[in-house]
Amino acid sequence: MRTPLPHFAYHPDPIGTGSVVSSDALCVVCGRERGYVYNGSPFAEQELERCICPWCLADRTASARFHATFNDPDGDDWDSVPDQIRDEIMCRTPGFAGWQHERWFAHCGDAMVFVGPVGFRELVAIGPRAVAAVSEELRSEGWGDDEIPAYLRSLKRDGEPTAYVFRCRRCESWRGYSDFT
Ligand SMILES: [Zn+2]
Ligand SMILES: [Zn+2]
Repeated sequence: MRTPLPHFAYHPDPIGTGSVVSSDALCVVCGRERGYVYNGSPFAEQELERCICPWCLADRTASARFHATFNDPDGDDWDSVPDQIRDEIMCRTPGFAGWQHERWFAHCGDAMVFVGPVGFRELVAIGPRAVAAVSEELRSEGWGDDEIPAYLRSLKRDGEPTAYVFRCRRCESWRGYSDFT
């Protein structure tokens, strides 16, 4: 029997994003087989790959037990974000696996919601504002407008390069970035 996953305000569909997967592994925190595990390795001294259930992640016990963090919010946009929200992102929100060190955006003094890793098709399906957000980030990194369309078309959800898309809970802004090995 599977109970519904806990709610993650800033990562509302962790199965859809691939960050939580079905598993019969025992959770190293609660010792139970819950049917799902976090599909990644938190930042911790101990190797904790695919052995933390989403419930122990959500209630912060995994973070507390192993001094583990799941995300590393950083950058100027975090200056105006309250500490408890930053803590929620670091210690009780599932992260995701990028090709480089993962980023998490903030906007309007709040953490942004992680919508997912996307390829070109998924990015277009989300909408033009998400496409514009990823393009804008590329421009800020020095990409030329003549290079961006072909690069965007090369984005792959399960290959590389991959884009990562976020939306603001307070306004309708989108942000995103992309990376590759
Ligand atoms: Zn657990
Ligand atoms: Zn905003």
